[in-house]
Amino acid sequence: MISSYRRPTKALIDLEAISANISVVQAHIPQGKKTFAVVKANAYGHGSVAVSQHIKHQVDGFCVSNMDEALELRQAGIAKMILVLGVVMPDEVAIAKDYDITLTVASLEWLALAEKLGANLAELKVHIKIDSGMGRIGFRSLEDANQAITQLTEAGAKVEGIFTHFATADEADNRKFNQQLVTFKAIIDGLDVCPELVHASNSATSLWHSETIFNAVRLGIVMYGLNPSGTDLELPYDLKPALSLESALVHVKELSAGDQVGYGATYASQESEWLGTVPIGYADGWTRDMQGFSVLVDGQECEIVGRVSMDQMTIRLPRQYKLGSKVTLIGRQGNQEITATAIAQKRGTINYEVLCLLSDRIPRMYDDK
Ligand SMILES: *Cc1c(COP(=O)(O)O)cnc(C)c1O
Repeated sequence: MISSYRRPTKALIDLEAISANISVVQAHIPQGKKTFAVVKANAYGHGSVAVSQHIKHQVDGFCVSNMDEALELRQAGIAKMILVLGVVMPDEVAIAKDYDITLTVASLEWLALAEKLGANLAELKVHIKIDSGMGRIGFRSLEDANQAITQLTEAGAKVEGIFTHFATADEADNRKFNQQLVTFKAIIDGLDVCPELVHASNSATSLWHSETIFNAVRLGIVMYGLNPSGTDLELPYDLKPALSLESALVHVKELSAGDQVGYGATYASQESEWLGTVPIGYADGWTRDMQGFSVLVDGQECEIVGRVSMDQMTIRLPRQYKLGSKVTLIGRQGNQEITATAIAQKRGTINYEVLCLLSDRIPRMYDDK
């Protein structure tokens, strides 16, 4: 889909903030650890090519969720390691080798299917995934992990890494985290041959369990300046949100008492009041449950009134404002700030989802630095 540039709605991405967030995390974790930047899902909506180009000298590699995301980076000239965190089916092995993309191997069944399909694993780079308790993908026993490494090595593949993923690193209760750590360590210690790269730390683990980092971190949400726990745990150091969402008033009118607004006529003015229309809606990922939330105009909170429709929504203004007046949906105006985390709380979800839902219709704009 082509982004809608000829409309005032846009996401402004502060690439320098992303760099600064990486640096601050790197300064707080033990020295000598590798950094993998997680740029899956279009870099959590920030634009994976632009982000990766900007940070490529600060990191040791990139993580994505699938082959297409990996190929997008390679085709944009990104030369560092790219690890696909999800399962890529064995029919993609040849293209992975062609583009030097590292695959995750998560089951013996995958290896059996690769053999059945006649996939040539020679020279394929892989990381082994251990399911230490997340319950999505990965080997769940030492025996299976050992067997996979043996089979891959015999087939000529390069088993360069092994990793796991924590389910509760962003929670105050550490019991599940510690169980997963024990499980993962037992497998690492029991391997006949341990791959060189051992990694287990997402953002939350890097922030709150930095003593448990093996030899690399996989940084996602912290790079983009958000707290992985939402508001549950305090950040140990400041991060700067990298994405702002802005638009402008494209229609302003005065309502009389009792005038109704939007689909379902869910809002009626109590008295004469000013209303502004903003060109953003649920097709942009600005979901219908934003009704009743606020945006910023002229440094003031303005309530979203009436239903959010596909392409437009209406806000109540404290007074008349001119067409083109700036509207901030995520970000700062004066002393006021609206964060993706606050939006997530209103929606009963997590800040990750708020960012990822911003659709391709919204252009991503970058400063020229
Ligand atoms: C998405 C993902 C990450 C990054 O998670 P954050 O919480 O954003 O840091 C790390 N590892 C795996 C396996 C992932 O899927």
